[in-house]
Amino acid sequence: MLEGTTSEIRERKALRVNPAKTCQPIGAMYAALGINGCMPHSHGSQGCCAYHRSQLTRHYKEPVVATTSSFTEGASVFGGMANLTTALDNIFTIYDPKMVAVHTTCLSEVIGDDIPMIIAKAKKDGKIPEDKIVIHTNTPSFVGSHVTGFSNQCASTIKYLSKSSGETKNVVNLFPGWVEPADMREIKRLAGAMGLDYILFPDTSDVLDSPQTGYYKMYPDGGTTLEQLEAMGDSFQTIAMGPLCSQAAAEQLEKQCNVPAKVIDLPIGLKATDAFIDALRVAGDVSVPEEIDKERGRLVDMISDMSQYFHQKKVALFGDPDHLISMTQFLVDVGMTPAIVVTGTPGKKFERRIHEICADTNPDVVALAFSDIHYLHQWIKQNPVDLLMGNTYGKFVARAEKNLPFIRFGFPILDRVGHRAFPTVGYAGALRLLEKITDAFFDLRDRNDSDENVELVL
Ligand code: SF4
Repeated sequence: MLEGTTSEIRERKALRVNPAKTCQPIGAMYAALGINGCMPHSHGSQGCCAYHRSQLTRHYKEPVVATTSSFTEGASVFGGMANLTTALDNIFTIYDPKMVAVHTTCLSEVIGDDIPMIIAKAKKDGKIPEDKIVIHTNTPSFVGSHVTGFSNQCASTIKYLSKSSGETKNVVNLFPGWVEPADMREIKRLAGAMGLDYILFPDTSDVLDSPQTGYYKMYPDGGTTLEQLEAMGDSFQTIAMGPLCSQAAAEQLEKQCNVPAKVIDLPIGLKATDAFIDALRVAGDVSVPEEIDKERGRLVDMISDMSQYFHQKKVALFGDPDHLISMTQFLVDVGMTPAIVVTGTPGKKFERRIHEICADTNPDVVALAFSDIHYLHQWIKQNPVDLLMGNTYGKFVARAEKNLPFIRFGFPILDRVGHRAFPTVGYAGALRLLEKITDAFFDLRDRNDSDENVELVL
């Protein structure tokens, strides 16, 4: 496996091997699926849309609807206005969504289609029914990564839809960032347990984990509703989780409707969940209920029970910046040593945050933005680690580095199912992560220890 990967690291300027990111539109598609009754629309050639839908389906094991402008060579030269106008006409006639959220691909970005103008003309020409809505975001795939696309879709949705009536309501907006449907459900559960009225946006719970009823629903029951999207402008505060995914949307709402924004890390692990609960506590001027206190206590108990197995274990991680920042902090909190942390998403801020988090325990941590899994693998060959964490593509590295324990974490996970059903956010999610880590270490021991060293009790 990966025999071509040598331990000798050569400087690469142009070649990318096994990227730790994908392109913007898939993030915009995922965010749009978190809007109730919304059809994501990819303005470009149809290959992008097919790839993004299939990648989301492989990850969530659910149908993923999206339409495309299906550019041909002619549209690539003369512009995609006719394609988008025809698409909107067909979408509303055949699929009848409440809303269409248009995003772009590198093709339509390179030719420079003016999407707002095309939408306005389609509306004027009666191609968009009076009671329907079309919004858009620009998602050039040569800028940033899939998380940038998620962020752009969220910010643009607010720009189009959120309004301030002038009357502030006792409601808090929660922007969860790019997390799993089960995570969104857990965030809602925690906010509910704290007694807050909230609006979660986007919300893919009950969209990408909808129950099997025997009937196919093109637009499942979940998703943030249009009424909620409009009403977000009247909330008294926004709590935005994960700066890369949620900050732009929170700032847009602050600028547009004067809703103050508080940006925190994704609530993965002990400290980041504490920060989330505290943000809810302060926002709602409430006390933390005993139920949540106990959940936290159970997590701390597990950390102390198992600390001897975590102590100074070296970890290599790759994935998306918001996930990695919280996960790195959590590993440090339980006594482990993040050794190399790699994201494919560009941005020096990520590298600074990882160095800050590891300053006391491992000042030599390697933190790299805009890098790839090939580099991570070569580095591991020179500096062996005890654990690898990342998306499905890490399994090849784990296999190549015989017996390297590997935990699937982030997007995409194409070869396991639990990520969609069980949260990694909150204290409950942190418990699950610790269970996975200890299981990975114990499985390795059970497999490799000599007969006389196999322990019944660990
Ligand atoms: S990089 Fe461009 S062409 Fe490739 S899938 Fe993304 S948007 Fe489409």
